[in-house]
Order: sequence, then C-alpha cells, then structure tokens
Amino acid sequence: MAATSTRSAGKARGARTVYYFGDGKADGDRTRRNLLGGKGANLAEMCRLGLPVPAGFTITTEVCTAYDRAGGRYPAGLKQAVSKALSRVEKSMKKRFGDAQNPLLLSVRSGARVSMPGMMDTVLNLGLNDKTVVGLAERSGSERFAWDAYRRFVQMYADVVLGVKAEAGKEVAPFSEALEAMKKKRRVEEDTDLSADDLRELVATFKSIVRKATGKAFPEQPEAQLWGAIGAVFGSWNTERAIAYREMNNIPGDWGTAVNVMTMVFGNMGEDSGTGVAFTRDPATGERIFYGEFLMNAQGEDVVAGIRTPMPIDQLAAVAPTSWKELLRIQKLLEDHYRDMQDIEFTIESGRLFMLQCRAGKRTGFAAVRIATDMVREKRITKEEALLRVEPAALDQLLQPVFDADEQAATRRDGRVMTTGLNAGPGAATGRIVFTPERAVELAAKGEPVILVRIETSPEDIKGMQAAEGILTARGGMTSHAALVARQMGKVCVAGAGELMVNYHDWVMGVGDTILEEGDWLSLDGTTGEVINGRLATQPSEVDTALFGTKAKAKKAQAGQTWKCFSRIMRWADGARRLRVRTNADQPDQCKTAVAFGAEGIGLCRTEHMFFGEGKIDAVREMILSDTLAERKAALKRLLPLQRRDFEGIFKEMGTRPVTIRTLDPPLHEFLPHDDDAIRELARSMGVPAEQLRNKVDSLAESNPMLGHRGCRLGITYPEITQVQARAIFEAACNVAKKTGKKPRPEVMIPLVGDAAELASQAAITHAAAEEVFKRKKMRLPYLVGTMIELPRAALTAGAIAAEAEFFSFGTNDLTQTTWGISRDDAGKFIPIYVDEEIMPGDPFASLDTAGVGRLMEIAVADGRGARAGLKIGICGEHGGDPASIDFCHHLNLDYVSCSPYRLPIARLAAAQSALRD
Ligand code: ADP
Ligand code: MG
Ligand code: MG
Repeated sequence: MAATSTRSAGKARGARTVYYFGDGKADGDRTRRNLLGGKGANLAEMCRLGLPVPAGFTITTEVCTAYDRAGGRYPAGLKQAVSKALSRVEKSMKKRFGDAQNPLLLSVRSGARVSMPGMMDTVLNLGLNDKTVVGLAERSGSERFAWDAYRRFVQMYADVVLGVKAEAGKEVAPFSEALEAMKKKRRVEEDTDLSADDLRELVATFKSIVRKATGKAFPEQPEAQLWGAIGAVFGSWNTERAIAYREMNNIPGDWGTAVNVMTMVFGNMGEDSGTGVAFTRDPATGERIFYGEFLMNAQGEDVVAGIRTPMPIDQLAAVAPTSWKELLRIQKLLEDHYRDMQDIEFTIESGRLFMLQCRAGKRTGFAAVRIATDMVREKRITKEEALLRVEPAALDQLLQPVFDADEQAATRRDGRVMTTGLNAGPGAATGRIVFTPERAVELAAKGEPVILVRIETSPEDIKGMQAAEGILTARGGMTSHAALVARQMGKVCVAGAGELMVNYHDWVMGVGDTILEEGDWLSLDGTTGEVINGRLATQPSEVDTALFGTKAKAKKAQAGQTWKCFSRIMRWADGARRLRVRTNADQPDQCKTAVAFGAEGIGLCRTEHMFFGEGKIDAVREMILSDTLAERKAALKRLLPLQRRDFEGIFKEMGTRPVTIRTLDPPLHEFLPHDDDAIRELARSMGVPAEQLRNKVDSLAESNPMLGHRGCRLGITYPEITQVQARAIFEAACNVAKKTGKKPRPEVMIPLVGDAAELASQAAITHAAAEEVFKRKKMRLPYLVGTMIELPRAALTAGAIAAEAEFFSFGTNDLTQTTWGISRDDAGKFIPIYVDEEIMPGDPFASLDTAGVGRLMEIAVADGRGARAGLKIGICGEHGGDPASIDFCHHLNLDYVSCSPYRLPIARLAAAQSALRD
C-alpha cells in the first residue's frame, strides 16, 4: 500500500492538478473518474456533450492525497493552476470573482470516486461580501434576492467551513435561531416574507455570531473564502463520518476526494427559476418513466430538505415549458450516451436550464433487472452488459415475501420496532410467537403462522424451523446454525438480536418494557433485521408465485414484469456461465424448489437432517446407544427402510441429475436427548434403566466434538453405519430407476477425510454395498464415490486422496474452521472486532479467505487433477452462494458450486459474470 501511495503522490507533483470545464470544452472526461471523482468526471463529460453546464474546474483526488500526506500543505503550483482556471471561468461567464459590479459567484463541491454521504456539504454563493452583494443586487434587479443569497452563504460557510454548529445541549444552530427570531419580530411565517432590509440585518447578526464563536471576523476576501472552502473539502476526507462510511463500504483511505469549483446558477431568482432532481427511469421499479421532483424559486438542497413539498417532475411542463422540453431532450441524450439509468440534478435560472450533476442512478433489485433487460430490448446494451449490470446479491430482493410498505413505515414511527438484529435470512415474516420446535410444528399443523424464537438454534430445532414462517435468535452470527439453515430453507431469519431477552421458563420474550408471550403476534423483516411487535400483512414474491403458485396465480405472476425480467436474466446467465450450479438440499420439497431455481444437481445432501424426521430419531438413538454390534445392527435394520424412503423421494425429484449424498458426519452426541424427561422416555421405550442411559449419554460427550469422533471416523469405528447408508442409497436409486425409467446418479461423499487410507476404507465398504445391491436388483447404475476436502491435511495430500476419490467437494465451512483454527460457533465474539480493526478484510465464513483457505484449495485442485485427470471438483460450503467466492471458484476451474436453493439465482448470475469478465 505504502509503495502505491508514494507513487501517486510523486505523480501529483508533476502532473496536472486542475481540470477545466465550460462552454462545450473540458480537460477531463468520464474515463477520468479516479482522478476527477464521479461528479467532476461527469461534469466534464456533460460539457463535452454540449450540455448547459456552468463553467468551473476540478482539483484532482491526487491533490487530496498529497495534501493529506504533507499535513495540510498543497503541492507546488496548485495556487497558480487554480487562478489560471478561475480566469478562464471568468472569461467564459463574462463575470469577475470579487468584482463589485458584476461578481462571479461559485459553488464548492466535494466529489470522490464513488458517492460518499459522509463527505462535506456543498458551499453555495461563495464570493459574496458587502461589496459584491451590491453588484449582485443590481445585476439581478432584486435586492432581496442578493441579500438572501448572502445570508445563505454566511450561514453555510460558517457551518461547513468554519465549523460553527449548535451549542451543546441546543437543537438548532445559532443561525436558525436568529432567523426564527427575525421572523417573529416581523410577525411573518415564511423566510420568503422577509424583506431585503431584514436580510441585511440578518447578515450582520450572522457575522457577529461567527465572530463570537471563532474569535475572528467572517472572511470578506473572496480569495480567502475560496481557499477556506477548498481546504474544508480536503479536510472532510478524514472526518469521523467519512472514515466510518469508508469502513462500512470498503473504500480505501488513499483514494482521496476531488474538489469541484463551479459558477453558481440561481434557482431562487424568482418564479421563473427553480431546481430539481430526477431519474431517467423509476429507481424503485425500473419503469421507463422520467421520475423526479422540483421546486420553483428555490436553491440547492431545498428539494430534499422537506421544508417545502416539491412537485412531481412532469408538472414542470406546465410551469416552465421551455425548460421542460430541454430537460426531456437532455435526459434522453444522457441515457443514450451513458447507456444506463441516470440520476440528474438541474437548476433553472430565469428560464434557462443548467445541468449540475449526473451519475448512474442507485436502484433496487427489481429496477436493476427491469432496466437491464429493457435496455437490451431497446438495443442500448448487449445481453452480456446487462448481466454485468445486475448486482447478484440484489436478486435476493426479488425472491422475498414483502410487507406492505406503508404499514411498515408506520411501525417505525409509532415505536413498534422492538429491536434490530442481523439480517440473516431476507424477507418478511409474520406469525405467532413460539419458543419450542414442538409448539411450532403443532401450531403450524393447525394452519397458524408461527415465528420460532430461540436463544440460539441447534439441529434438533430443524423441524420447528421448517414449520415456522420466520426464525428469531438472540445469539449467533450470520453463519450461525439458524442463519445457515434458514437460508437453505429460504426462511426469514433475524439472528443475534442482542437486546432480546428470551426466557424459556416463563415463555416470554421482550426488549425493555415490551414483553410478549407465546401466541402473541410478531413480525420479522429479515432484509433490515427489524423485529416488529404485532402483525403485518405479507405476500409471497412474484417470482415465488410464478414458480410455485396455484395455476391461476402462477399464470398471473408469470405475466408480471418481475418474473419476465428475472427469468430473462437467468436464461442469459445460464448461457454465459461455465460453472455448473448445484444445491444443498436434504428433503424432496427442497429439491423441488431448487430445481425450479435452476439446480443442476445436489452438491450436498446431509443425511443427518433426515434423522430428525418422523419416527427416525428413536431408531437413530437406539443405534447410537446400543452396547453390542448385534444391537446396533438391529437398530440400523430398522433405520434402513426409513433412509431408503428419504433417498427415493430425493432421487424422484432430481431425475437424472447427479445427487451427492454425504454419509453421517456430526458427532453422535448431537442426536441424543439431554434433559431428564426425554432420557427417561427413551429409556422406557428401549427397555433399559434410565440411569444406565444417562451414563451412556454422558460417556458420549466430547470436550471438542467438532474435532472429535465424527465424519469418516464414525464409519471407520462403526463400518455398519456406512454399510447401511450405502445400501439405502443404492436400493433407493434402483427402485426409482425401475419405477420412473430415469436412472438416478448417486455420488457418495465421505466427510472429514484427512488421509487416503481413511477414504479407501469407506470407499471399499460403499463399493461392496453397491455391488451387492446391483446383484440383488439385477441392474447397474452409474455412481461415484468421492470425498469432501475439509481438512488442511486432505488438501495437502490431495494427490494421494485422488487415487481413491472419483470427485472432490470443498467443504469450506470446516476447511475455514480448521485452517484458521477458529470455531465458527464462537467466532462471533472476535471476528467483528477483527474486521473493525482491519485485521481481517471480512468474515471468512461469509466470503472465502482466498489467501489461506483458497491457497489450500489451489493445491488440492492441482494435485488432485494431477493424480486423476478430469477429476470432478465442486464446493458445497456456504461460500458456494457468495459472489466473490464463486468468482474465485471460477478461476480455480472448479466444475460446480453448490448453495442453498434460494441462493441459486445469485450463484447463476455470479458465475455468468465471472465468465464474462474473463
Ligand atoms: P451532493 O453530492 O451532496 O449531492 P452537490 O455538490 O451535488 O452535493 O450539491 C448539492 C446541491 O447544491 C445541488 O443539488 C445543487 O442543487 C446545489 N448546487 C451545487 N452546485 C451548484 C451551482 N453551481 N449552482 C447552483 N446550485 C448548485
Ligand atoms: Mg448532488
Ligand atoms: Mg464439514
């Protein structure tokens, strides 16, 4: 980092520091965004396009960096460059800065590479003093206007540049107070009712406020005003607000901001003047309508400040027809030129339109797909460009049920929002509060929507989570069990709501004084993380309805804009991507959802989730708790048909698509009951003394279960478990093949392998089971046996493992845990701090740590394919749904990524973008 910074500072010394724009000419253009900032680059571009832009100049971002490094000194030659550019502006505008007869007034605006709300506010009307105000009054023919501009300038400059703010304990700045006092004195309501003399008096008052607050007179010299403002913009790069914003958005500190100095135009010169902001298309829906607001006789931020209610943009046609026509022409021209939706700012001065800003407009996910696909149809952009325009993560918005917008806004005003947690599973959910998975299932079976509220969730809660509309936890991060499972299920989830009190004894939850009981209504917004007291109406997304709705509803949804645009983008993405996409799914209904969302196979089917299903858990527990091989075999025999039925359901849904099934992975202790009642009950059904069972349960507890007796270690110590699982898989596959005529493609995956010998043992059992079943069923099916790569040792010995494995699948959740030596379940305590302190760039469980974990993956890919040409390799960790991680997998040349069903659209688009960027 240091090396690049020095280089750019060096460049600043010799390079041009000031870029002029005006009268159809500009030194810069839109390609110089890094140097001129977004605003400066686009002002230059608009000038080149011949649009009416008031003349001005941009001081480069490199000056900011150099100024910073030199502790607030400007690079040599800057003053001369600024004064040269200023004379050019004066010539172009036929006015002089500081001239008493015909003064040029300036605005000073910040403008970084990307727009940054944390930056300095704009200073308008700069260059006014007791002499120039007279000239302005004469030229404009309005004394009142001139003094109003002057009093606005003193107020803005004092606030933004001199830092004169409200006194401690006071709400309003001293200037607003003085203004209010003046209005009271004159017995008027509006600022506009004050006379020129009133305003003159106010200017004097404002200046005395400045003298009192700063100990210095207000700067009268225009030159001093200008350099004060320039220094303030550069200084604002390092304010707390700006730094916080940069941290939140991963913006490097050495980018710097540019300063734009330009001629003022006045929207407040009377009823034929005005100012406005607009989008060339609707930023919420993407519809191709000119969308925006304006105010007549107003300046600057009046439109967004909310003091007066602005008018919808199309009313400009009646108020200022000439400017309206010109604006329509320009908005079209800008879209044609930039070939993207633009966000524009304009001002009308005495009937003449001026452009003050344009940039690519921010938009919702809905608008993003609509605009991208519409622009392809309008032949403005190619399909490839359209795919690159849509942020993959923004597709999430299209898939989520929604709250009524007005109703939700009301909850924020009236205090119904109880707290805000992590937005772990996006969407809107509303239902009755339950505290146990059993109650969730029970109430849901009666048709009641429920919200499952837990301190945190565990695998035992799966059925309850499935039954719930939404899940709320007080503890756990973005990759906690609740978050992970919720995303796989496509459930709304707010996790880690730290303020939340959850009491399992009295069945209450609450924040502060608000206490809710079981059965009370609660609403969760998984997109914002808001927890809302009470019931809010929701509806499924258009995409969901199009895919899964009843016939009539689906048909209607498929005729809707969202579905049309979404499915078009998905189709194009599938044509562009190289990576295949699979899903992580454990149940037939998840498979169905996933296939509808484009899954080309299953990348991870976790058999243990099935174990919690109807009637199975008891057999599983007996299997685990049996003392002898004979007992265990008896329990497994009971389990076999149940597992087989699960697999049949999955194979039926998946047809001839590959299905990767992982053999039993978690530590056995996770399947056992822990409270006394449950143990007693199980003991009764097994016909053993409760005490004996309790001892057995205790003896299975491990101090480090995640590194303990799990994964292939279970299959090695209890080969009969692998045997029975493999038999269930192959019998199910044969049965489905016979019934449907379609040949399933099972891929048996052995977890937590660290050495080729471990895999060899489990592969032998699996192959033997397959042969035995095929012989018995008198048929053969294609199948593979492979392994997860989720331990560093597996990656490092991948060459040897590949001799045994027919495929690899990176289990990047465990691989991240074991590479870093960080337990995911405990990481919440320190990873946020690591990220804050920039010790880690981000949570490695959310986005792949390419330098460490990624390095191991590289080794495994190279050595694995070296030992077995064409080895099929995929990824099935949570990272499979993260666009940055998908990009890494694309470049590693993996065959597929696998993610939860509702992340599939994101994965398909991200994979397409990776291929297109190559
Ligand atoms: P932001 O980046 O916060 O949008 P801007 O630099 O765009 O800040 O300035 C805010 C507002 O100030 C603009 O929307 C415009 O109304 C007004 N403004 C800026 N420059 C000028 C100018 N040269 N003449 C008239 N108004 C201006
Ligand atoms: Mg702006
Ligand atoms: Mg694992």
